[in-house]
Amino acid sequence: AFKSATRIANVGVSKILAIGARAAALKREGRPVIILGAGEPDFDTPDNVKEAAKAAIDRGETKYTALDGSPDLKKAVAEKFQRENGVDYALDEITVSTGAKQILFNAFMATIDPGDEVIIPTPYWTSYSDIVEVCGGVPVLVPCEADAGFRLKAEQLQNAITPKTRWLLLNSPSNPSGAAYSASDYRPLIEILVRHPHVWLMVDDMYEHIVYDDFEFVTPVALEPKLKARTLTINGVSKAYAMTGWRIGYAGGPKALIKAMAVIQSQATSCPSSVSQAASVEALNGPQVFLRERRESFKGRRDLVVSALNEIDGIQCRVPEGAFYTFAGCGGLIGRVTPDGKRIESDTDFTDYLLETADVAVVPGSAFGLSPFFRISYATSEAELREAMRRIAAACANLR
Ligand code: PLP
Repeated sequence: AFKSATRIANVGVSKILAIGARAAALKREGRPVIILGAGEPDFDTPDNVKEAAKAAIDRGETKYTALDGSPDLKKAVAEKFQRENGVDYALDEITVSTGAKQILFNAFMATIDPGDEVIIPTPYWTSYSDIVEVCGGVPVLVPCEADAGFRLKAEQLQNAITPKTRWLLLNSPSNPSGAAYSASDYRPLIEILVRHPHVWLMVDDMYEHIVYDDFEFVTPVALEPKLKARTLTINGVSKAYAMTGWRIGYAGGPKALIKAMAVIQSQATSCPSSVSQAASVEALNGPQVFLRERRESFKGRRDLVVSALNEIDGIQCRVPEGAFYTFAGCGGLIGRVTPDGKRIESDTDFTDYLLETADVAVVPGSAFGLSPFFRISYATSEAELREAMRRIAAACANLR
């Protein structure tokens, strides 16, 4: 019989994908399911980016590239960090991988020994803890509640640090909460980190360009240059440029770490796709105006969803600073009973109820390590969002 390796014993295929599969199956049966579970923009990749990819193919850029990124793309990334974040990374302090996910994977594979701890505030993108576990590390999950803006507090960080702590992993704006750290949110955490030189910082800035209401995005190394020698600043083109399928992520960090990550990449994928790298050069160097238009469009949808949710008795939703998710509390619905006589005991019961009776697919907070909540991805049309909100309100009103 098949036996998997111990390193994946506690790791499953993501719950998010499982819900997506169930929703897709219902849709195939002819049910009018609205899926609010997707972690990708509904916009198309910009035309100039597509053209750059076609031109690269025609120029014959269809072979292996340099191991951890073509010189052109590394240069574009260095310029991006300089222009948008005010941080200087040399070309040998930059790495490019097959998605930000591979960046995370390379970094943990290259640095984690069995038993090493990684502090991860919850709610968190599930892959964080799964990747840490695959690499033999111990995720140290620290719950960050809605009334704290889903943000880690300095004393929580202080209490979570042990001699075995290798990394603190922060994600701003966050998937799933949409919460983001301003400079003043970061400062107390940075103070703690400065006092604990054995703790390295990994920041996932993936949703940098999707922020609202004059929120000023900042990355920690720009605030405290002392951290630069032990920080990995992760970013990518997937969410900002609607390029999830192209699979390009990148990061800046100290040279020794970048080199160690290249060792892992060399034995896994050899290099990221040449065509996707050429497209990403254009994404980073080309016109950026459409980012503002898309941001405005996301903001309208955010406002629609948040206000509709807050009108429902039993649901509470804070206004997220960024990304395209809301993480709403459904604690007020726990204990209520469905028309079929089933008691809602958890956020998973609630999201199952929404899918089965209201044809709306959302993801329970338990998938992100914090309950009772549910995540809505509002990267879909306003018409669909309005209909989904109507159905959720009706389903909630049917609970007794
Ligand atoms: N980081 C966060 C917070 C994400 O939500 C995602 C995708 O869902 C990723 C990283 C992965 O992005 P990529 O498509 O570059 O692998």
